[in-house]
Parts: sequence; structure tokens; C-alpha cells
Amino acid sequence: MELFDLTLHELSEKLRRRELSSVEATGAMLARIEATDKNVNAFITVTPEQALRDADAADRRIATGEGEPLTGIPIALKDIFLTQGVRTTCASRILENFIPPYSATAWEKLKERGMVLLGKLNQDEFAMGSSSESSAFGVTRNPWDLECIPGGSSGGSAAAIAARQATATLGTDTGGSIRQPASHCGCVGLKPTYGRVSRYGVIAYASSLDQVGPVTRDVRDCALMLGAVAGHDPKDSTSVDLPVPDYAAALEGGVKGLKIGLPKEYFIEGLDPDVRRCMDEAVATYLSLGAEIVELSLPHTDYAVACYYLIATAEASSNLARYDGVRFGHRNRDAKGLMEMYCKSREEGFGAEVKRRIMLGTYALSSGYYDAYYLKAQKVRTLIRRDFLKAFEKVDLILAPVAPTPAFRIGEKVNDPLQMYLSDIFTIPVNLAGTCGISVPAGFSSGGLPIGLQLVGRPFGEESILRAAYAFEQATEWHKRKAQI
Ligand code: GLN
Repeated sequence: MELFDLTLHELSEKLRRRELSSVEATGAMLARIEATDKNVNAFITVTPEQALRDADAADRRIATGEGEPLTGIPIALKDIFLTQGVRTTCASRILENFIPPYSATAWEKLKERGMVLLGKLNQDEFAMGSSSESSAFGVTRNPWDLECIPGGSSGGSAAAIAARQATATLGTDTGGSIRQPASHCGCVGLKPTYGRVSRYGVIAYASSLDQVGPVTRDVRDCALMLGAVAGHDPKDSTSVDLPVPDYAAALEGGVKGLKIGLPKEYFIEGLDPDVRRCMDEAVATYLSLGAEIVELSLPHTDYAVACYYLIATAEASSNLARYDGVRFGHRNRDAKGLMEMYCKSREEGFGAEVKRRIMLGTYALSSGYYDAYYLKAQKVRTLIRRDFLKAFEKVDLILAPVAPTPAFRIGEKVNDPLQMYLSDIFTIPVNLAGTCGISVPAGFSSGGLPIGLQLVGRPFGEESILRAAYAFEQATEWHKRKAQI
């Protein structure tokens, strides 16, 4: 076993027992990035000097007994998190040289615990995409098959875990961007309930949907990371003031007597046969562990993709108005006059997918169309949320695929946005409902690509999905396989 193969909780044990220093662990990760990232392209920015300095500080903290389980662990962040003094691009040309003057709360919390930042991870531009192909910094490749996409938008966050370039990472999930890449790269990824984690300092895409969450190697690591970032933040009025449970302590207990619902709308004709096989096997595993399986219906599922792409683009068109070349970001220097400067700066700074979404969103919000599109979508969103709340009167959690297929090939869907949008069909409803979901490794395709299983919980039911995911992980071996890279 190589140093870079250790899970967060294994590495934490070794650091605490002083079998290993954070400087050694961090050095091993940096060497691994150096050796593999030419192929994977999971990182936009690597910060070796700062990482080794912070690792040294963490070692001193551990030596004086002030360390805690996360101190000295090398991690990386999606490039959507503001990191004071470290370039933050959101994978866009418009922020190519942007150095934030302050940090996201999620990163502040991890830094306070002594975690070490290795660098910033690639993603779809402004988190708009499902394949990490829309980045201005080149596509990220799937470590399990370099010809395939890692998923998106947090593709770098998942690829870095699969390639063992970081011990844990953070991503964001607006319509599936943590769970889908986790599924495609064989990692654990959790999208918390809306309001569970502060989004302060996280570059906004669609503010009524965006959530921060971990991508990790196993469920215990996921629980530890979630516990560290969750909680109320006075700087984010949408973060909820509820106590943060000890998620890692809640993992044991199993699923005996638990009622798990299978929504019939998620087990449809077009489902890839390998994905279906993995779901069937997962159901059998849960039955053997003593859970009860109940069929149910989420009747408004069909409208979720259309509803999401109206709401998300509408919010994005408003959030992205701030990139005007005036206060920060790219500015065209040749423009004559203010209007031309706005137009040229935005034209040069934004990529094609971002422009498409700004146009779609502006259209949906325009007077005369607002009622027909945006307002209607908001009403449908309420119906989708009610579907889930009703289902949770009958079951404790919902089991579903994360994505209809395993990772597709690079280039396969870039010219067909509708196909790309449809690949989010099983993750989007969870964001619209504002509740939590996790992806756990549940098998492989015949071509050797990982396939994830999604568990959806009640609002603020993160403990229950983590416990059920942990029971599944303990009963299976999928999380132990490693990408050969
Ligand atoms: N693929 C979806 C989109 O493009 C979700 C992205 C995300 O969750 N950030 O909007």
C-alpha cells in the first residue's frame, strides 16, 4: 500500500500515532499529482510550497497535542471555492487571473482544523455541465479510462480521488455535480440538504440549488468531512441553524427494519443494463441486511429536467451579471466606451455553454415569458418537492441510480446539449426538492467503469443516508478497487 492510497481515517490514525508526518503525506500527494496529472488534468492550480509549509505547521500542532482527526490531511478544493491568496478561476477565462481577497467558509473551517490545501480542482466552467468538458483549462479525464469523462461539474474533485492525488476533496452540487462524478469515478460523494453547509465564498451558479459537499474514498471519510464543513454561518442567510450531529459516530447500526423505497420512474426502459444490474444487486444486498424494500412513485419526475434548466439558467443569468469587467475578472482593453467594454469582456471571458445558459435564463425571465416559464417552473418545483415529502411518509430513504449510464466518452455529448442535460435526470430532482443524497460505489460496467448507487434521505437526514451507505459498503468490496493509473 502506497502512502497516497490511504483513506482519510487511515492517514489520520497514522498521523496521530506519529508513524508518519503530514509533510511526508503531503509530499507523497504532490509527487503523485506530478506523476499522474499530465494524463488526468484534475488540477487547475497546484500550490506545493504553501502545502508543505502548512503541513509543517500541522505537524507542529500534532506534536504539541493540539491536533485533531483532520489536522495534517492533504486535500484539494473545486476551483469554485474562494481561497484567499490562491488563484480561483471557476474554470473560466473571465476569472483566469482572479486572486480572492477572502476565503469560503467551508475552506476556512477545514483550514482551522489544520487541513492542508494541495491545490484547486478542474470543473465545468461555472459548474455548468455534466462532463468537465466545458472548462477553459482543458478536459479532465476519468482515471478508470482516460478516454472517458469523469462526470461533472465537480469532475476534478472525483478524478483526484480516483487517481489518489488528494485524500479528500470538496465539490458543489446544483443538479448532481457531486453525486454524478463520484458515481463515474468510483468515489463516495454527498450532496447535503439545502442549508446544511454555508455557501459563503462559493462562486454562485443557481443560488436556490447550490450546495457544498465532500467527495471521498469511503463513507467514513465522507462523514468526517461533512461534519467539518456543516453548520450555521452568519455570513450565509440560507444556512440553517441546526446542531451538527457527529456523523462518523452515527455510521454503525445497520439497516435492519429500514424501509427503502424504489421509485418506479427511476427504473425505466432506457436505463443502461449494467446500471440496472448494479441496482438489482444493491437491492438484494439491502434485503439480505434486513431492510424492507417498498415500490413507490415520484409522479412529477418527468418534468424535473425541464424545470431545473429553467430555474438554474434563470438564476445563473442573474448571478453572472457581476462579471462585467469593471470590478474584477477579465476586461477588454480596446473597447471604446462602457457598453462595448461590457460586451467584449463578456464575449471573450465566457465559454459557449455559459453563454448558452445566460441566454436561456435571460429569456426565461424576460417580461412576457416570465409567467410561462420561470413562474411555471417554480410551481412544478413545489410539486416535485411534495412528491419526495409524501414518499418519506412511507419510507425512510429512497434508492435509485445516480446516472442512467456509466461515464461516456469524451466528445460524445458536447455537441448535443439536450443529451447532456438528460444525463442529470436522476440527480436533479433531489436538488429541486432541497434534500440530501449520496453516491456510493455499487459495481462496474462490463467495460470496467465504476457505477454508483444513490440514496436519498429526508431533509437533514444525512445521518440516515450515511448509515445506510456504510452498511452497504461494509457488505461489498467495490470501494476497495483502484483505478490503474
Ligand atoms: N449538470 C448540471 C448542470 O449542468 C448540474 C451541474 C451542477 O450540479 N453544478 O447544470
